Amino acid sequence: MQILDGLLISQHIKDALKLQVAQLVTEGKKVPHLAAVLVGNNGASETYVNAKVKACAETGFKSTLIRLEDTISENRLLNVIGELNTDIDVDGILVQLPLPKHISDEKVINAIDISKDVDGFHPISIGKMVQGISTFVPATPHGIMLLLEHYKIDTRGMHAVVVGRSNIVGRPISILLSSNTNPGNCTVTICHSQTKNLRELCLQADLIVAALGKPEFLTGDMVKENAIIIDVGITRVPDASKKSGFALKGDVKFSEVAPKCSYITPVPGGVGPMTIAALMKNTFKACIDKN
Ligand code: NDP
Repeated sequence: MQILDGLLISQHIKDALKLQVAQLVTEGKKVPHLAAVLVGNNGASETYVNAKVKACAETGFKSTLIRLEDTISENRLLNVIGELNTDIDVDGILVQLPLPKHISDEKVINAIDISKDVDGFHPISIGKMVQGISTFVPATPHGIMLLLEHYKIDTRGMHAVVVGRSNIVGRPISILLSSNTNPGNCTVTICHSQTKNLRELCLQADLIVAALGKPEFLTGDMVKENAIIIDVGITRVPDASKKSGFALKGDVKFSEVAPKCSYITPVPGGVGPMTIAALMKNTFKACIDKN
């Protein structure tokens, strides 16, 4: 069994971006600028946004964090997005999800200028991704593909089972894995809460992407020998032994699954850091495409 070390590979990606940013500076060009919008004070969202801002600092990107009260109206938030759209210094806009219930995720995502849609959630970005046209690929699926690519895992012809069908993880990764690319060229089964015989389907899988948000859901008896396991889940589980009061759990029961599989991503240190690295790559692309 080999660990797919997202922490290490994301560092390689950030180091490479840092060199590219230094080159832009040498040439007198502007550096990439990410604007992150955080509504409310959800602890997990705060952690994710802070990690993204920190990654910008590490790589030499400019970042602006816009904090807004969770009572902000939808219209006011849409105005903020409008201002960022027209700000020529801003290359990428990220709105941390989830948003408060009274605000439509869809309206907010659709309001982002597609040239700045570094999260890749805009329907036009998704449509382009489906058709294999160059675009911003959503950061988590993009990060997973970068990880598979880095470890030179030949996924051609594999049966991939994706558990979860969200617009930000399950659906896009199922499309990428089934694309005529390398990595890719898998035969993909996408599962969700209504899937029957999930265990049997997982047992047929050469590669499983677990993205359902249920801690330690995928157990050893659901995985065949030598399967490749990508654990996307991150759930805060109360843990009195931790200073923070919680532990981060993936969707995979690591202690049972790891001994059986060929490759596995840990939680933390797997898909999470790769998501940030992919976001940084998208922001760099947004900056370069503009010039
Ligand atoms: P969502 O809640 O949007 O989607 C969960 C999906 O899992 C749904 O499609 C749901 O099915 C399916 N599901 C739920 N329960 C079951 C079940 N018992 N059996 C089969 N399928 C099930 O979650 P996200 O996609 O946003 O996130 C998934 C996990 O990944 C979360 O833990 C999240 O925190 C984490 N995450 C991690 C990231 C990272 O950077 N590492 C980035 C983004 C997310 P249905 O559609 O039928 O409801």
